[in-house]
Amino acid sequence: MNLIFLGPPGAGKGTQAKLLTEKYNIPQISTGDILRGAVREATPMGVKAKGFMESGALVPDEVVIGIVEERLAKPDCVKGFILDGFPRTVAQADALQRMLNGLDRAIEHVISVEVDNAELLERMAGRRTCRACGRGYHVTFDQPKVKDRCECGGELYQRDDDREETIRKRLTVYEAQTAPLKQYYAGESLLRPISGIGSIDEIQRRIVAIIEGRQG
Ligand code: AMP
Repeated sequence: MNLIFLGPPGAGKGTQAKLLTEKYNIPQISTGDILRGAVREATPMGVKAKGFMESGALVPDEVVIGIVEERLAKPDCVKGFILDGFPRTVAQADALQRMLNGLDRAIEHVISVEVDNAELLERMAGRRTCRACGRGYHVTFDQPKVKDRCECGGELYQRDDDREETIRKRLTVYEAQTAPLKQYYAGESLLRPISGIGSIDEIQRRIVAIIEGRQG
């Protein structure tokens, strides 16, 4: 089961991908999480990526393509994978195609989670992330049991790229560079648009219906 989650920042891709990981026992490959880990650990890649991420821009294609290539080669991907936040440009989609051809694999569904910009701004401005483990919360929709604390004990903070002006920039970047991938995958009959509005469970059911072939 090889899936791509496409959608603007804040659409809930990460939350939904995590649930599917548990349901189908396949890994979630989030380039955003991997990059944030690299920034936390100040690896050479993290140092290179930091400025792009903080400003809401995309990290250069060759960096993220390298991350995904390495990750897809790991043994836990043999049964399938969920790409969350990759590809984000046509160049990344082309590179993915080449990688998968080399592995004799193919994408089955590109699930495009659709949410309008006003809703995205509200959602993202309320996001909080654990400094220790990276888990996400929301001040209204997914509150931690203890204020400002993750269940792992880590401190919750607001990512620089979840601040309003950066969010607006990320939405513009999404429209310009990532939204064209909808055409790209529609052309390959892989695009499955779903509404990203509703409860986490409702959205999960829409996705599972696609994966299990209950939707035309
Ligand atoms: P995300 O958590 O997926 O919203 O990613 C956070 C930030 O990481 C993005 O705003 C980009 O700066 C960077 N990033 C994550 N995935 C990619 C990607 N596929 N291509 C380029 N930059 C990425």
